[in-house]
Parts: sequence; structure tokens; C-alpha cells
Amino acid sequence: MRKYIFVTGGVCSSLGKGIAASSLGSLLESRGLSVCMIKIDPYLNVDAGTMSPYQHGEVFVTDDGAETDLDLGNYARFTASPLSAANSITTGQVYQEVIRKERKGDYLGKCVQVVPHITDEIKRRIYSPGEKEGTDVTIVEIGGTVGDIESIPFLEAVRQIIHERSRRHAISVHVSLIPTVSSGELKTKPTQHSVKTLREIGIQPEVLLCRIATEMDDAMKRKIANFTNIDYECVLSAHDVKTTIYEIPVVYRAQGLDRVVCDRLGMDCKEDKFRAWHRISETWKSSVEVVEVAMVGKYIELDDSYKSIDESLVHGAISNGVRINIRKIDSESLTTPEKTVEALAGVHGLLIPGGFGERGIPGMIAASRVAREGKLPFLGICLGMQIQVIEWARHIAGIPEANSGEFTPDGPSNVIALLEEQVDVTQYGGTMRLGLSESVVIEGTLIHSAYGTINIRERHRHRYEVNNKYRDELENSGLIFSAFTPDDLLVESTEWPSHPWSVGVQFHPEFTSSPLKAGPLFREFIAAAVDKMRKAG
Ligand code: GLN
Repeated sequence: MRKYIFVTGGVCSSLGKGIAASSLGSLLESRGLSVCMIKIDPYLNVDAGTMSPYQHGEVFVTDDGAETDLDLGNYARFTASPLSAANSITTGQVYQEVIRKERKGDYLGKCVQVVPHITDEIKRRIYSPGEKEGTDVTIVEIGGTVGDIESIPFLEAVRQIIHERSRRHAISVHVSLIPTVSSGELKTKPTQHSVKTLREIGIQPEVLLCRIATEMDDAMKRKIANFTNIDYECVLSAHDVKTTIYEIPVVYRAQGLDRVVCDRLGMDCKEDKFRAWHRISETWKSSVEVVEVAMVGKYIELDDSYKSIDESLVHGAISNGVRINIRKIDSESLTTPEKTVEALAGVHGLLIPGGFGERGIPGMIAASRVAREGKLPFLGICLGMQIQVIEWARHIAGIPEANSGEFTPDGPSNVIALLEEQVDVTQYGGTMRLGLSESVVIEGTLIHSAYGTINIRERHRHRYEVNNKYRDELENSGLIFSAFTPDDLLVESTEWPSHPWSVGVQFHPEFTSSPLKAGPLFREFIAAAVDKMRKAG
């Protein structure tokens, strides 16, 4: 029988529930089990596509083009779970479906209610992605904090599933916080209360992961176990790690998380393929050199805005045997050429990430110019590639007013523009080029040597494209177009000539990079940055 694990969070948000759920997924996979990961977000948005990266962090895109919560990115980096639109559930989707059915008359005149209609729809969505043949465990992470008004219907659905399937087949794992107060003392009370809140809803957690600054001692574990009705061996210390987040599965494994979960759910855990995770943190620990790359973007204030890119850079560093420091620079602060040169001084590479809207664009163009002229390794992602093209057009190709139709819809020289068929941009939800598609790379280019193949598949999330009217002019001035869509209609990648390493891509390679196998562009970008660092130093 298929097993279910529900991961909830207590006390406050940002406890790393997503990493905890992902780590558990990776541990169960290393035991030979097949895992399906689901994220529940209790907000009314239908998907994360229209949400600002400022407030909610990065929007993660799946192969099928779903715009989801960034936790799906964690699942992708830690596990082999299939991920599609079905793995991301929001309150908006649930209500939209129930109301659609109500309008159709599917409820046969009944009064439509939160219980059972909303909860049934939630349960249907939890069951359905894991129904694929061969899935052993579905891990469901419930966003928000226990006690929030928004998450009540989801927790009620969870309670029902645990009741229906029994605790032999469905368990709750709760992630909580042990804060330190000003006297330096660690406090267990918030955790006790958060478990109490969960129990009031009818859910007794089986496993407790306590977020704490340093490793929790035995006496505290016993105290918490006693007050929360949880077995001592199931109260685990989720202390801060000193290397990367990829050490977290190692920390849980050392305390037997996979063993207790397999025990509770009656799953066989004889197989053991855990070594890969150990290797990552060992590599990080033994690396001494620190490469530094700049990221010039507009959503710099919130740490999670470029989550997958940050992680992909770490993957690139791990695969090159170095550590990395990412210097995040707000593009709006680059108001003069001098400030731009100063802000980029000493870095070994520049990355310009994706983004939307006009704000901060001049700073990105200035940074791109400094990288081109200063022979700095460069990686441009989506908007970053468009910036690379605009900067080249203005300063090399002799098109001084070059711009993107996104910023100057009626401008005279939009080298980046909407395709003619993409006319209606008044509706923002779901009107982009989204999801996995194929590109054909040109032999002998940097992107070709990075991927080592002609046909590549990466995910997209954008509206604007290189304007074909300017393709010849830009190429004649020396800019290299190094990948195209298979029909040759759209440019997918650009490179500067006679530059140590520079690739701009219209797609998002950060969504497919993993710690065990860095995305080829991140691996090569960091390799070029390391080269620069060693030559400099
Ligand atoms: N705003 C640009 C576009 O829509 C780039 C999008 C992105 O960087 N993801 O084409």
C-alpha cells in the first residue's frame, strides 16, 4: 500500500520545511524507495506565476510549464520525484475546481461546503500524483504555519487521510523551532505549543524535527518527547549546518530519520545508497579556494528571489572543487560607469539573472558592458541574455537606441521584441512561453562544448525574443548566435566573440541543475571564473 508523509511547520515560517521534506525524500530514495513530492500552498493564487519574487521568492518552472513555489526546486535538487503542475496544490486551484463543478451542477443541488467538498478535492489532489505505478511514498509539504486560518482545510484533509489509511500508512512529521532567548537559554515551549495546536486539529505528529542553532542535547530531546507524546528516537535535532544545505540529509541520516520513518510505515529500508550526499559536503569541506561571482539583478533584497540560480552556482563550484561567494548587487545602484566598475571590482565572473519590467535595466546594461570590455566570464539568463544583446547592439553594432519592446513598446530599435502572434499582454497569468522545449546548438560554440551535444532541452519562462529583423545586422557585427529553436525561428543563445567565456541563454538552466550533477553552463561558467581567479592570483 502506498505511504503518505505530511510535513507541517510550527512556531514561525522560514524554518526550512522544504529542505526538511526534500532531505527526507532523498534519504528514502537512498533506501531504494520511489518518492513523489507535493507542495501545498494555502494562498488563493492559482499558481505562483503572478506573485512577486520580492514577497514569495523565485517562481520555479516545471517541464510542463507550471509556475510553482520555489520548494519544488528543492525537491528537484534533492530527489528524483517527477514534478509537474500536479505536484503543486494551492487553495486557488482547489476552490476554482470546486466552484467549476458547482456551476456545472455536479453537486446535484447539495449545499457545497468546506467539509466535505473542499477537503475531498484536496484529498483527490494529494492522492492523484502518487498514483503512478511504482511510487512508494508521497511526501506532502504543507506551506504556512500550523494554526494559520488558511491551512485549516488542508490539515483537516490530512487528518482524514491519516484516519482513513491508519498511522501504519500515513504519518505526520512536524518541523518546529527551539529559539534562543536573550539570556542565551534555549526554549522548548513554542515547540510544545505548536505540537499541541496540531493535536487539537486531530493530528499527532510521529516525528519532530527541531530547528535549533547548535545540536540539541539528550536531556532536551527527552523533555520534548515527554511533553509532545512523541517517541524519544523520533525527536531529532535539525541544527544549522556549516557547509551547504546538502549536508542536511547527512545530519538527519546520522540521527536515523530514514530508519524511524521506515519503521513507522513498515517499509523495507535495507538498501543503502547514501554515499553521494556525504561526498558533496566532504568536497565542500576540503575545498580551499573561493571563487567570487557577481549577480546583478533587481530582486536582490530577498534572499530567495534567485534560489535556483544561487544553488546552481554552488553546484558549479562543487563540480570544480572550489567554494563560492556570490556578490549580489542591486542593478539600481549601478547609476554611473564608475560605480559599476567599482561594484564589480575583484569578481571573477558576472551573472545577470532573469527578471521582468523596466526598473534596474540600465544598471544591468552597464554591468554587461563592464564584463564584455573587461573580459569577465559572463552568464546571462533569460533577461540576462536580452541585456547582453541590447548592450552589444548599442555599443558595437551601432544601434544606439537598441532596447526591448518590454521597456519601449513603440521604440525605434527593439532588438528584443514580442513575436507578431504574441499580441495580447494585457493578461499576465499564463501567457508566456513556458516549460521544457528543445534547442539546437551550433557546433564549435561554448554552449556546444558545455552540453557536449547538439540537441538540448531546457525550460523557458518569458515573453520576449531576439527580434529576427535585427538578426543579420547583429551577426554581421560579430555577435554569435549559438543556439536556435529547431525551426530556426527563435534565438536561444548568444556569445561574445573573442571573450574568455560568455553565454547568454533565453531559457533557464537553473531549473535542471542538481548538486550531484551541475548544470553544464554553471559548471563551465564557474570553470572560467576559477581560471580567471587563478590567473589573477
Ligand atoms: N522579461 C523578459 C521576457 O519576458 C525576460 C523574462 C525572464 O527573464 N524570465 O522575455
